[in-house]
Amino acid sequence: MDRSIFHPDFKARPYWWEAVEIGDDPPAELPARADVVIVGGGLTGLNCAIELGRGGARAVVLEAEEFGFGASTRNGGAVSAGTNLGKGMSGAGTQDAAAQAVLRAMMADAAASLAHVEAVVARENIACHYERSGRFVGAWTPRHYDAMARRSELFNAHAEAEAVMVPRARQREEIASDYYFGGMTVGRSGKLHPALYHRGLMGAARRHGAILLGRTRAGRLARTAGGWSVETTRGPVAAREVVIATNGYTGGLTPDLRRRLIPLASHIIATEPLDPEIARGLIPKGRTISDTRRVLCYYRMSPDGTRVLFGGRARFTQVGPEVSVPALHAMMLQRWPQLKGVRITHAWTGNVAFAFDHLPHMGVTPKGLHYAMACNGSGVAILSYLGAQVGRKILGGGNRVTAFDGQDFPTRPLYTGHPWFLPMVGSWYRFRDWLDRRVA
Ligand SMILES: Cc1cc2nc3c(=O)[nH]c(=O)nc-3n(C[C@H](O)[C@H](O)[C@H](O)COP(=O)(O)OP(=O)(O)OC[C@H]3O[C@@H](n4cnc5c(N)ncnc54)[C@H](O)[C@@H]3O)c2cc1C
Repeated sequence: MDRSIFHPDFKARPYWWEAVEIGDDPPAELPARADVVIVGGGLTGLNCAIELGRGGARAVVLEAEEFGFGASTRNGGAVSAGTNLGKGMSGAGTQDAAAQAVLRAMMADAAASLAHVEAVVARENIACHYERSGRFVGAWTPRHYDAMARRSELFNAHAEAEAVMVPRARQREEIASDYYFGGMTVGRSGKLHPALYHRGLMGAARRHGAILLGRTRAGRLARTAGGWSVETTRGPVAAREVVIATNGYTGGLTPDLRRRLIPLASHIIATEPLDPEIARGLIPKGRTISDTRRVLCYYRMSPDGTRVLFGGRARFTQVGPEVSVPALHAMMLQRWPQLKGVRITHAWTGNVAFAFDHLPHMGVTPKGLHYAMACNGSGVAILSYLGAQVGRKILGGGNRVTAFDGQDFPTRPLYTGHPWFLPMVGSWYRFRDWLDRRVA
């Protein structure tokens, strides 16, 4: 392994955690009762708690680890809405009118998720470097470019995406690289500092009356006459409703949800501060970047514009920095050879959760548990929105609130939530990416 790419001050923890102290939350007492118990203290659970609080319901949010432990403070901070339905909306162009109508309604709701994040950030005064920066999606092959051009029409028609195709000849207006065969910009998307967003949501949830309990794992969930009794590592709490907001960390507490999710690792590296001249030119318009490879990469500049934060599926499973850093560093140099010799100061990983239909899901299980999950790699906007929608639904007495609500949440026979097949899928996807480019 090339140790020279590791900065002497290298840390195996999120760059974002330089701005917040994870685990310094004020202690709170577990009450005997709440209106709603929310399991999972990420942005899904917190958005749900805020919405409930605004409607006068008292929520208790249980987080098994420190608040901020999950993906919500580890992500790339790209806020995309609508276009990130990706493969899940492949049916939108089909002739099946009913399926088309549902998928198009989902795109409209996904578009609304951006407005939701912007409204929460503004209303709750969350200083998290939010910016409607737009996004550039690079085409890995000319065929991908053509497919994206067709999709951009759908995105504009149904998800207000403000998508514009950028031919290869003009690509350098978006990125200082010739790696892609052109791409698409999505004007209606943004970026933020995820740990500051999460921290701001915690403050807002508390102001709206929620009780936040870190290092408090939810155990057994038992039905009672008045609703639920939730066993926790600090004792029991009773509630009228329970919301499961555990996404990529969904475990044995809810086996019926776990078997509908494929948890996948995603990895990010942060570079040392770059030469300012080079840093300014890498992404001239300050957008977030992703691409159409099966093993996709997503990247951006840090909020202060000095570093590259480069993420991707270096592996589909959890691996240490000795594996993820060389892999991501090499991917970064493929796009930006001018960064040769730049060292890495931070590397980290977290779990996302895919659904078998590649769509986000919210609803109520047959046992009566509310849930919102399955980010399929990008949940900052959609899971913030669906978390809040679960809150709205509980306040409104159970009426359907979004097109995502109550859709069939598929699983596969014999699948229990342990994706043993991921290393093989990763190798297969890498091979397919290589082949696509060879025949391009
Ligand atoms: C490396 C990485 C990069 C990403 N980049 C982007 C991006 O750029 N843009 C984007 O839109 N999305 C991105 N995502 C996805 C996004 O971060 C997630 O979709 C989102 O944060 C999910 O939020 P959540 O609240 O549902 O789950 P999480 O934030 O993961 O929180 C779930 C929490 O549930 C807790 N929990 C589990 N079981 C229990 C229990 N029994 N009791 C109590 N608590 C429990 C866990 O400890 C965990 O903290 C990325 C994710 C990762 C990992």
